[in-house]
Amino acid sequence: MGGVIQGDSHSVDSFCADPSADLDLEGDRLREECGVFGVFGHPEAAAVAALGLHALQHRGQEAAGIVSFDGQRYNSERRLGLVGDHFSKASTIERLPGDSAIGHVRYSTTGETILRNVQPLFAELNSGGFSVAHNGNLTNGLTLRRDLVQSGAIYQSTSDTEVILHLMARSRKLRIVERFIEALRALEGSYALVALTNTMMIGARDPLGIRPLVLGELEGHYILASETCALDIIGARFVRDVENGEVVVISKDGVESLHPFPPRPMRPCIFEYIYFARPDSVVHGRSVYDVRKNMGAELARESGVSADVVVPVPDSGVPAAIGYAQASGVPFELGIIRNHYVGRTFIQPTQTVRELGVRLKHSANRAVVAGKRIVLIDDSIVRGTTSVKIVQMMRDAGAREVHFRISSPPIMYPDYYGIDTPVRENLLAATHTLDEMRAYIGCDSLAFLSVEGTYRAMGEGSRDPQRPQFTDHCFTGDYPTSLTDLAGETKSQLSLLAEAS
Ligand code: AMP
Repeated sequence: MGGVIQGDSHSVDSFCADPSADLDLEGDRLREECGVFGVFGHPEAAAVAALGLHALQHRGQEAAGIVSFDGQRYNSERRLGLVGDHFSKASTIERLPGDSAIGHVRYSTTGETILRNVQPLFAELNSGGFSVAHNGNLTNGLTLRRDLVQSGAIYQSTSDTEVILHLMARSRKLRIVERFIEALRALEGSYALVALTNTMMIGARDPLGIRPLVLGELEGHYILASETCALDIIGARFVRDVENGEVVVISKDGVESLHPFPPRPMRPCIFEYIYFARPDSVVHGRSVYDVRKNMGAELARESGVSADVVVPVPDSGVPAAIGYAQASGVPFELGIIRNHYVGRTFIQPTQTVRELGVRLKHSANRAVVAGKRIVLIDDSIVRGTTSVKIVQMMRDAGAREVHFRISSPPIMYPDYYGIDTPVRENLLAATHTLDEMRAYIGCDSLAFLSVEGTYRAMGEGSRDPQRPQFTDHCFTGDYPTSLTDLAGETKSQLSLLAEAS
């Protein structure tokens, strides 16, 4: 059976001299949130994958890729840019023949944007070809990589995902699924994976289920996707969430479910509900839209204020603002208009461009704002860039008072599981008191949703401190896995300091 890969022929690649330069954990780099999609046994697999990726575009706008298998060869098209820029062309889809395909949208903040990092990745193993797409971030990827490179592995990318291919290549197990599972056992951190072999499509979620993955079905063909909105776009039926720690093996014989890890309570990332997932997606049985509205309602109950209008920061603040308006009785108005033809603010790699981006993206709707007392709602404050600009914009448009309400708790701790919340020093809430933040942002009052209010909005009575129901370290500092790479970095920094002194 073939495993030859072809494709990527129209793309420009570049090589950085020192790949480890791209792996700086403390330097605000290589933190990715992504979307994955896979379809098995469908006559138009690549076209279906392109549509699925289109619905997942919000999860990553830096690059997109599809790998298909046509029974003989793996075909790969990986591109920098948006899905629609490349995969809406018939010629691109024609270069992806076969009835199985997996795809990926990638998002990273800074660091070099190189085609070699664009997924799905592919390797020729002695058991056949293997392609994989990853959403999440490994907290021991760097440590594993160093060990592998020391023992002779040659890395093609600077992506932590590649470690899976190297571990599989070294496995002595016979079956490809066993090799894959053996590789997973070495991983720490978060992963939702979709993989393609000569005869199977495989999906896997980390033991805590930090990142989402769902199983769907379209005309008898199985689909895997990060979110249900990718099933809706192709008219596929939602079958179920892939469980935490589960490996699903899809072949012509159907779906086989494996549970290779000791059972653990699920702990999905709460930030999917707050910001990342699309509002029309259902994650673990909860409508993201409903949860966001609940968050707004809780916020109104916890920190209501006399005002004339509730104004969302679009689009991310809209559902919470609706919830706030409904719970408080203050009318909801579109006081800020969003230009939809620019990407998400964070996609811009430098602070200067990010700041410019906020102005490109939002404009005040003077008719709503002038002379009014405004409750401004956004889902989160990370660096504070958006908040400062938006509050100033409201004042420039004549707002009489600006009361800023945030439908999540203050982000105090960095993320290592695939969400771009940066190093601690750059997190506004980690370095400022509430009043300092209010002064910095320039609003009349500022309040965040409490952690307990967030859990109530999720339909949980309260946060179980012994066994928290969600991965919520951004707010609590309670990291659910070991952070081996970070511990290693800290250790090496300490030894450098010791050497220097
Ligand atoms: P900032 O301007 O740095 O305070 O970022 C806050 C804004 O970015 C809010 O409008 C959020 O909707 C959005 N946001 C929050 N978290 C993220 C993230 N991980 N990636 C991209 N945007 C985000």
